[in-house]
Amino acid sequence: MVNQDLLRQLPAVNDLLQDEQIQQLAQTYNMQFIKENVQQVIAKQRHKISINAKVELDPQVLVKKVKEQVTQQAAASLTAVINATGIILHTNLGRAVLAPAVQQELQAIAFNYSNLEYNVSAKARGSRYDHVEKLLTQLTKAPAALVVNNNAAAVMLILATLAQDREVIVSRGELVEIGGSFRIPEIITSIQGHLTEVGTTNKTRLSDYQRAINEQTGAILKVHTSNYKIVGFTETVAEDQLLQLARSKGLPLITDLGSGLMVDLKAAGIESEPTVAQVVQNSDLVAFSGDKLLGGPQAGIIVGQKKYIDQLKQNQLLRALRIDKLTLAALEATLRIYQQGADVWQAIPTLQMLTSSSELLLAKAHKLQKLLAPIPHLTTQLCEGFSAVGGGTFPDLQLPTFLVEVQPKSLSVTQLDTKLRQAAPPIITRVKDNTIQLDVRTLSDTNLLQIAQTFKEIMADKGAHGYEENFKR
Ligand SMILES: *Cc1c(COP(=O)(O)O)cnc(C)c1O
Repeated sequence: MVNQDLLRQLPAVNDLLQDEQIQQLAQTYNMQFIKENVQQVIAKQRHKISINAKVELDPQVLVKKVKEQVTQQAAASLTAVINATGIILHTNLGRAVLAPAVQQELQAIAFNYSNLEYNVSAKARGSRYDHVEKLLTQLTKAPAALVVNNNAAAVMLILATLAQDREVIVSRGELVEIGGSFRIPEIITSIQGHLTEVGTTNKTRLSDYQRAINEQTGAILKVHTSNYKIVGFTETVAEDQLLQLARSKGLPLITDLGSGLMVDLKAAGIESEPTVAQVVQNSDLVAFSGDKLLGGPQAGIIVGQKKYIDQLKQNQLLRALRIDKLTLAALEATLRIYQQGADVWQAIPTLQMLTSSSELLLAKAHKLQKLLAPIPHLTTQLCEGFSAVGGGTFPDLQLPTFLVEVQPKSLSVTQLDTKLRQAAPPIITRVKDNTIQLDVRTLSDTNLLQIAQTFKEIMADKGAHGYEENFKR
């Protein structure tokens, strides 16, 4: 039986809408949005009555609930976070952070009209792809280039153009899955291609490729095993030999490179992967991401032989995979840093974080520890640890780093972690061995101050001390 008496005591939607505080909300939010929230809050109480749960009838408490809900719903879902995990290309946290120098270009293109597809001097239609093609060909020494939405789209466009209804030869050692949903065999099926697997997981020889080629073959695909490594007794075919074979059969050799390294990391003392310019020499088409080691926006970049790039440009599918103007602006600005920048190792945040010296990391860790030291009910400790590159790149590379380990005295580690995640901006940390670990590699100087401020607020919160009393009992 529904308690009619309680239902009668529940304030009406219109009564709450008349409330002065609710009326004030209308200065910021539209009436329909406010009304929906009032209705939801009341409906929740009605539901509670129907299940005999404890119900709130006080109009002032309900008004407070409405205000809270409105603010919560009005807040942006996509927000900046502080990445204290030390994982530089954290796929869940948006991968590469753009260079500050990109901001100006991004602003100009976002809030003005632009020559996106217009050749101003020729008074004629232009192509959006022209804005970065020259930069890319200069930087990679490839004859032609094209950009699309992401690397998955780049690989799909290439295969759909060159290997639809045909066979694509891939080594069994390279049938990878990346990021959970990008699987080479499924990509090939999706473009109505046929996968021809050659070799074995650990060894593939030139003769394996040779034997697999027939009239149905559309392309040979090399996939960079970005996110795993096969070690032990392994054998792969030298790229120049494979290119020679492909050329002799009139087939395109496609390389899905994954991350697009533009500079040799050996210069910074890190064991490197081949750069795009190196791979281009032994491939007809190379596809890679804009937001991995390149350190730019999400994009798929294709560089290689002009005759194949021209074919890609003719494919109707390109229209569906096309890059948008904001991405293009950010990509061009990032590529210009590589072309003109005095010091890419400092100017590109991804490279800067990747190559941070241990002195710099230690100084940053000291700074953070010093900022946290005066905060009551916290113990901090500076220790050594490792950061990962992330983004499915350099799977076995461990970068030595410094961590500030934090242990709260008046809260549990889980409670503190929850509060850090609820902060604005949320702070994402590593929780390990019942401590909160802050890896300074992925933290900016501003982040250090924000973290200290957030810890100060959390530890000063009355709720935090209540826990201490419970804890002692
Ligand atoms: C990351 C990666 C992809 C997918 O790239 P997105 O830009 O995320 O679409 C494809 N292939 C390889 C080898 C990769 O490493």
